[in-house]
Amino acid sequence: MKTKIIATIGPASSSGETIKKMIFAGVDVFRLNFSHGHYDEFTKAIHEIRKLNKKLETHIAILADLQGPKIRIGEIEGGEINLVKNDHVVFTTVNKNASNGKIFINYPDFSGDVKKGDKILLDDGKITIQVTQISGNDEVEARVVIGGKLFSRKGVNLPNTKISLPSLSEKDKEDIKFIIDNEIEWIGLSFVRSADDIEELKEIIRSHNPKNLPMIIAKIEKPESVTNIDSILQSAHGIMIARGDLGVEMPLQTVPVIQKSIVKKCLGMSKPVIIATQMMEGMMNNSRPTRAEVNDVANSVMDGADALMLSGETSIGNFPVETVETMQKIIREVEQYEDIYFKQQRPVKENNERFISDSIIYSGCNMAREADAKAIVSVASSGYSTVKISSNRPRATIFAFANNEFTLRRLNLVWGVKPMYFDRLINTDQSISDLMHDLKAKGSLQNGDLVVHISNMPINQPGKSNMLKLSFVE
Ligand code: PEP
Repeated sequence: MKTKIIATIGPASSSGETIKKMIFAGVDVFRLNFSHGHYDEFTKAIHEIRKLNKKLETHIAILADLQGPKIRIGEIEGGEINLVKNDHVVFTTVNKNASNGKIFINYPDFSGDVKKGDKILLDDGKITIQVTQISGNDEVEARVVIGGKLFSRKGVNLPNTKISLPSLSEKDKEDIKFIIDNEIEWIGLSFVRSADDIEELKEIIRSHNPKNLPMIIAKIEKPESVTNIDSILQSAHGIMIARGDLGVEMPLQTVPVIQKSIVKKCLGMSKPVIIATQMMEGMMNNSRPTRAEVNDVANSVMDGADALMLSGETSIGNFPVETVETMQKIIREVEQYEDIYFKQQRPVKENNERFISDSIIYSGCNMAREADAKAIVSVASSGYSTVKISSNRPRATIFAFANNEFTLRRLNLVWGVKPMYFDRLINTDQSISDLMHDLKAKGSLQNGDLVVHISNMPINQPGKSNMLKLSFVE
């Protein structure tokens, strides 16, 4: 299977037994959602995943998803309030125990940032309220446009407001320390607005002096991030199309086209891309997905996603393992479809310090196709070449060898990549022969299979890919 599966861990899936079953069902990356859950739960899950990696000789990665500047309402007296069309409501930024129709919002500059007429969407957009008046520094008056039952602590989206909240809260900063201390491979940043948000996160990561640098996934869920996608792509290591909030902040009908266009841009820039949210939502309560969900998963594979993400389905759903199994079957079926392969980008010579390695990779992927090679083998240090090979979407299996477990786990999120441990880099000929021997011993290759090798020479020193070789397994 080429397309990777990301499953969110939660109460429905945090036991060692369920994590193991989900790995067998096809999970490549587990997501820890820092909007929910506590450090002791995360620590236990990380321990289980790493223990299973050792036992099963897998390289399952972890994606830590930061909450970011998530806006929420506070406690509501009695836990809920029924809002009816044209009701008058008052948002307060100071009184945490607001009552009598007043609602607390955890956004200190709310009254300074919103304007009369701005929309306030509550609970995933189920309730719409419109600002009617700003009353001083700490209160905003509004009128209910679409009503419904509002419960405590629900999320708030402000699609028309330029939000001045910092991109990382104090909680996020503490979470980053936990993430680095636990050597987690990928960090998701929520509500990204511009490339500056990514640069700020990089700076904080660097200030912790980590042994291994986690890579950053920018979550695209705000209109500003869609507008600024090109600069965000330059700065981030990967992208998540977070369709949950995106479909609240932007008109729902725009999401499919945004998805297609961002996936295409990611492939062009060789940045891994995740498609997330409500992919198999029906399987939260049913043992089978809806036909529309099957089509959504299939179309996301056809669009060219690196990974598909499950959220509530595996964190709180009734069928976490069955959901992964079903997703895996759909992916396998669709991957027989020729159109998902070979989306090559010809390397450009101008202003490209990677021209030689990009040309080697481009030619290697073409060679693999022409020769109908079974595998493309690369030795990874930074992982650049492996990700670049993957973005060419070859049919051949991409085996990425490294002697660093962190790098191997990180690459497990990337389309088509099978990470393998290898620490016997001697010289080019000997290493290639040893790598082939290992792959044959594992049953991954057989005598007579053709293999494309992409590497740097000398192979035992870090460097950019500059060597291409085609050989038979013998
Ligand atoms: C989303 O909004 O689609 C998403 C993935 O973010 P979260 O689950 O963190 O709200």
